[in-house]
Amino acid sequence: MAKHTFLTGDRPTGRLHIGHYIGSLQNRVALQNSGDYNNFVMIADTQALTDNANNPEKIRHSLMEVALDYLAVGIDPKKTTILVQSAIPALSELTMYYLDLVTVARLNRNPTVKTEIKQKAFGESVPAGFFVYPVSQAADITAFKADTVPVGDDQEPMLEQTREIVRTFNRTYNADVLVEPEGYFPPKGSGRLPGIDGNAKMSKSLGNGIYLADDADTVQKKIMSMYTDPNHIHVSDPGQVEGNVVFTYLDIFDPDKQHVADLKAEYQHGGLGDVKIKRYLNDVMDAVLSPIRNRRLEYAKDMASVQQILIDGTAHANEVANQTLQEVRDAIGFNYFK
Ligand code: ATP
Ligand code: MG
Repeated sequence: MAKHTFLTGDRPTGRLHIGHYIGSLQNRVALQNSGDYNNFVMIADTQALTDNANNPEKIRHSLMEVALDYLAVGIDPKKTTILVQSAIPALSELTMYYLDLVTVARLNRNPTVKTEIKQKAFGESVPAGFFVYPVSQAADITAFKADTVPVGDDQEPMLEQTREIVRTFNRTYNADVLVEPEGYFPPKGSGRLPGIDGNAKMSKSLGNGIYLADDADTVQKKIMSMYTDPNHIHVSDPGQVEGNVVFTYLDIFDPDKQHVADLKAEYQHGGLGDVKIKRYLNDVMDAVLSPIRNRRLEYAKDMASVQQILIDGTAHANEVANQTLQEVRDAIGFNYFK
């Protein structure tokens, strides 16, 4: 019997990128393979719709792409339940109950949502569903009684919000139904991968990512266009390593730490050109990405069986979420017909 449960997910707003890999996918696969967890991974199409209401086609299409990305990085449907959020009605009902346990002022204080609202340039027209998405995340996590949530560190405010809802629910209804989750983050310093443009976060919506499905040529072109040190004009100039995306990626992806340290010293001193470090980074990334890319191509040959994986996973997830929903209704006292 598994002792712990993890749940995490991704918005199907595009294919997954190396930020997702470092921020969350890698940890999921490790937790999955440890054998200590019940594993749930959710494709969050309902959440994706909160800021894409007029573009459901994008979500429909991305759903299968994300499923392929999961399988490509080693999420194993024999060990991990892969579910589709919109096909789990209990999640919507839980969200409605939890919305009564948070205040608008509290939601307004969420720093990640604040940043995203600015980035997405909603102006005054923030969709209400987007504004409250941390509450729907609380529903997702608690429906499966997850105690562990492997995510990037942009998600910490969501976890804090979930813990507050859990405490408020259990206290208000004098129940011991919901479980407080903890985040499971990547090592310090790699919790949020910057974009190739130097933006603080690689994000599907910002178009600044290297995707798990990108072919080798595309990856190389992206690396060659990467943000480095704008003042490093001549090879002989001393260059900045801080904020230089090439070195940030080397720190994270290159297992040869000594070599990275040597390159940094040479770059800072002057005499090491951007083209050279980019070529080196390309080799490092290729070693990480080519096995993933090849597995993805294999799975893509049989999309019917990928779809069946989602059908089976969602059926199992419905059983678990409906059980929690029943306990939640009982706690509130909404069980008139029992
Ligand atoms: P969108 O722009 O549609 O919000 P996204 O790229 O932010 O897409 P999400 O689906 O919102 O991706 O996030 C899925 C998971 O990946 C979360 O756990 C999040 O923390 C993690 N993640 C996303 N981007 C990064 C990043 N740049 N670095 C580390 N982790 C990331
Ligand atoms: Mg996001």
